[in-house]
Amino acid sequence: MSDPVLKKARCPICKGESAVDYKPFCSRRCADVDLNRWLSESYRIPTSERSVDSADDDEIL
Ligand SMILES: [Zn+2]
Repeated sequence: MSDPVLKKARCPICKGESAVDYKPFCSRRCADVDLNRWLSESYRIPTSERSVDSADDDEIL
């Protein structure tokens, strides 16, 4: 196992070098992208209890 250099944080969005002003992101744009992800997740309203995802879970190991 080889750890990447921990001194330099990486932008979780584009894996670029993070900027001090936008830590841990590299730019305002990537910070916005991350923010939008959070917002869209919190906006998820449980309107129906149907889960379409489980229908795809048929794989036999
Ligand atoms: Zn970035």
